[in-house]
Amino acid sequence: MPDTIFAKIIRREIPADIVYEDDLCLAFRDVAPQAPTHVLVIPKQLIPRLSESTPEDTPLLGHLLATVAIVARDLGLADTGYRIVMNNGDDGGQTVDHLHIHILGGRSMQWPPG
Ligand code: AMP
Repeated sequence: MPDTIFAKIIRREIPADIVYEDDLCLAFRDVAPQAPTHVLVIPKQLIPRLSESTPEDTPLLGHLLATVAIVARDLGLADTGYRIVMNNGDDGGQTVDHLHIHILGGRSMQWPPG
């Protein structure tokens, strides 16, 4: 399995603006923010994309979503709202092969997404 930039962030080999960490996951600010607040929540365990997750990953996936709610609240987004996005594969626009959830907030979002 090829290494990804996110694995290097987890190992602190490259810098990131980390806003949350626990035993299972890490949250850090996106280097190319698409909203005033744009944070990525990633598992420390490598799952390349949601479509490659297995039933054994279910507790971890639940933990990631619960963590999104904690991080969004800590970032002050809970009252105004926010969008979460998980791009999966080429048509989903995924560019980093390490599962991640985008938290986007601080502006009103449009629908449908592009
Ligand atoms: P995706 O296109 O869904 O795979 O999202 C990957 C995201 O990772 C993009 O929004 C990138 O801007 C972001 N990204 C890539 N490299 C870094 C990095 N070194 N630090 C923070 N975010 C990054």
